[in-house]
Amino acid sequence: MDGTNAAHAQLQSIADTLGDWIQFVEADQASDIAGTSLSRSAAYFPKSAVVSIPDLCKNLICHPRIELIKGVLGHDLSLTTVIATGTTIPQRLALPPLEITTVPGQIDCFSTSPKLARLRTTVVDDGYVIPSSPSILTSGSTYEHDRWDPSYGTRTNRTRLGKLFGHALFRWVQRYRGWRCVTSDRIPIIGQAADDLWLSLGYGSSATTSALLAAETIASGIVGEFPPLDTHTLDVTDPMRFADRQKRRPNPFTK
Ligand SMILES: Cc1cc2nc3c(=O)[nH]c(=O)nc-3n(C[C@H](O)[C@H](O)[C@H](O)COP(=O)(O)OP(=O)(O)OC[C@H]3O[C@@H](n4cnc5c(N)ncnc54)[C@H](O)[C@@H]3O)c2cc1C
Repeated sequence: MDGTNAAHAQLQSIADTLGDWIQFVEADQASDIAGTSLSRSAAYFPKSAVVSIPDLCKNLICHPRIELIKGVLGHDLSLTTVIATGTTIPQRLALPPLEITTVPGQIDCFSTSPKLARLRTTVVDDGYVIPSSPSILTSGSTYEHDRWDPSYGTRTNRTRLGKLFGHALFRWVQRYRGWRCVTSDRIPIIGQAADDLWLSLGYGSSATTSALLAAETIASGIVGEFPPLDTHTLDVTDPMRFADRQKRRPNPFTK
């Protein structure tokens, strides 16, 4: 929705660029689509879907050419290795200097009667509310520069429901807490760090979209194919970029 995260002109420009992937809709039409009253215009993705990452991962590991080995990364790094461990960087690896920090966050699920509060599509404003099932709304997510008390996170996420449904009643069901790995320039770290060592880190709040492209980029690099990213994007995501910056200034996260 048009708001603090995306200005009207910005949404319009995204709609113009993406063509028929997206429709720019005024508040009345947005309300009809969502099934609840929205006060501002929005960019609507008619073919959008909610991806269940646990289900996606379960399906991926059933692939005949993927072998799942459970446990902590071993000492033997004789094979080509991709480090994709979020903020937990194995200390014994000789990595270039990285500028990453942890930003906790929380998602809460609430149940409601579909008769009282029926949401037909995900609404993204300052945060999002997802109709996970006809009776469950998932609301998130907090972005905690300091670690919040989980009950405060739940209150914050409940407020998002209030904005959509006024005083309808919602029963809290459960919460999920996690940690985002955020870089100093808010750009992920994708690429080669040493001979047989590759990094895929720092996706902040958007791994669901960017990590897949990063995986294809790293796989292309390992087998010597052309990557799906242009040279500018490869440069800005290069794991070595912080080393140059730290010649001029310290790591901003260790000040
Ligand atoms: C509340 C919240 C809401 C979010 N919402 C969204 C969203 O709507 N859309 C979106 O795109 N992103 C969202 N994100 C961000 C997204 O979850 C992260 O960007 C994503 O999980 C990062 O993926 P990753 O694989 O890099 O790291 P992680 O998901 O952190 O995975 C790293 C894995 O490595 C394992 N590991 C660590 N050390 C080792 C070791 N030594 N050996 C073996 N394994 C190890 C960990 O156990 C973990 O399983 C959200 C994050 C939070 C916290």
